[in-house]
Amino acid sequence: MHTQAAKTNGRPAGWKREFGGKLSIILGKDGVIYAEDELIAYDCDALTGYRIKPLFVVLPKTTDEVSRVLRLCYEEGVPFVPRGAGTGLSGGALPTEEGIVISLARMNRILEVDIPNERVVVEPGVTNLSVTAAVSAYGYYYAPDPSSQIVCTIGGNVAENSGGVHCLKYGVTTNHVLGLEVVLPDGGVITTGGKSPDHPGYDITGLIVGSEGLLGIVTKVTLRIVKKPETVKTLFAAFDRIEDAGASVSGITARGVIPAGMEIMDSLCIRSVEEAVHAGYPVDAGSILLVELDGPAAEVEAQMPIVEEVLKGHNANEIRIARDARERDLFWKGRKNAFPAMGRVSADYYVQDGVIPRSKLAEVLGRIGELSREYGLSVGNVFHAGDGNLHPLVLYNAKIEGEHEKALELAGKILGVCVESGGSITGEHGVGNDKKRFLPLMFDENDLDTMNLVRCAFDEKGLSNPGKVFPTPRTCVEQGTKPYREHPLQKAGMGEMF
Ligand SMILES: Cc1cc2nc3c(=O)[nH]c(=O)nc-3n(C[C@H](O)[C@H](O)[C@H](O)COP(=O)(O)OP(=O)(O)OC[C@H]3O[C@@H](n4cnc5c(N)ncnc54)[C@H](O)[C@@H]3O)c2cc1C
Repeated sequence: MHTQAAKTNGRPAGWKREFGGKLSIILGKDGVIYAEDELIAYDCDALTGYRIKPLFVVLPKTTDEVSRVLRLCYEEGVPFVPRGAGTGLSGGALPTEEGIVISLARMNRILEVDIPNERVVVEPGVTNLSVTAAVSAYGYYYAPDPSSQIVCTIGGNVAENSGGVHCLKYGVTTNHVLGLEVVLPDGGVITTGGKSPDHPGYDITGLIVGSEGLLGIVTKVTLRIVKKPETVKTLFAAFDRIEDAGASVSGITARGVIPAGMEIMDSLCIRSVEEAVHAGYPVDAGSILLVELDGPAAEVEAQMPIVEEVLKGHNANEIRIARDARERDLFWKGRKNAFPAMGRVSADYYVQDGVIPRSKLAEVLGRIGELSREYGLSVGNVFHAGDGNLHPLVLYNAKIEGEHEKALELAGKILGVCVESGGSITGEHGVGNDKKRFLPLMFDENDLDTMNLVRCAFDEKGLSNPGKVFPTPRTCVEQGTKPYREHPLQKAGMGEMF
């Protein structure tokens, strides 16, 4: 574990006290956390292996307060880290030792519910599940549903472009965010997009969704909500071999059926989940595939036999369809509690997040099994199979010297396999602090420089969530006009640039 204390290197004596005083003029005394023991609560996100205490934590209540705090940071050159609920798994909300954390927890109001236009406008600290709660009575819901949805915030979802079990059919966060209000790192406030579906000019909304807090602080979000489907049917199929569950996923989509969600769990996860929440999963199965179909009743009735046929064709030895809403919720409760339930099997585990083309599921799962045997560490697999978004859970014992490092190495090798098979180093947990070293597996220097140009256009001083995402420190001073370098595809004679 790495723990660092806050720093005020190079600042005159008394600067920290004075700066804290300026913050409390903007936010009031109860809007700033100074006490060392209270700052501990903010020293990490859900990736708890890295901890840094910030100088202060501030809790603004309005866009104007966020703007004034960022203006002050800009004038004094103080870095800042936005924070929602701190459930991120890539160290995105990890503080910087010379800066402050800006918690959006108090900006948690639902500002507008506009049913005729199917829109909801919220502040960033609103939790994901509260959006659905606000519109449920009207027959609507908010589709992206990360497993952490009870606590994670819409601001965090926007920054990470979060996904969830129902994103296969309905799309991830970016497909549901229509407009934003953002405070830029110099304190300026911009609005992007809006309630209507298309806006002229650059798609700045699309740029900010998934930018991991590097372009400013999101203070207002316009979301699309969708009508609850007429019918929902959920089943799980049990298999001896996880490879068969994986092959069923592309088998189902190849038959023209796009379920609302398809999730796989391996035997290790099934057993721990069953012990924890008694979801009714068969504990002796090698793996299970959860499939949810939704839509008009006639469509779901027509699709169900196709799904069953594919599952049987891939050696499913049990298929159980939820009899009612209660049983359906139980099936999903099992899946959504898979990460915490793993705590029963192993005190320490590392959650990896990678993506592969779903047609490669069977092959990649086999490779993960080989790596697990090679390293002598168990790997639990629970994942959004329809999107090819893997979440291997690498189990280890932190008390055994060197095992944490070994687990990280194994998790890194899994990402290598994902990229080799045409996938990505992250599906939904973001790059943050943890994965920046893997970015060069996917991007060359030209690609990274281009991303940095965008960052510099928003944040020339590099104050917004510094040290995240980019593998090597890139400042905006050296950015300027870059000498042209050939792209690797050009060098290999496989492409031309016009
Ligand atoms: C048990 C568990 C299950 C999970 N399941 C899923 C899942 O199914 N799908 C999924 O996608 N993720 C999942 N996650 C990861 C995490 O919940 C998501 O990434 C979530 O979106 C983070 O939201 P948060 O409010 O906790 O953000 P934080 O962790 O506080 O912050 C995440 C990032 O967003 C930035 N940020 C936060 N608020 C703002 C803002 N207002 N403006 C600009 N930047 C901001 C932060 O700086 C940081 O970089 C899971 C995590 C856990 C612990």
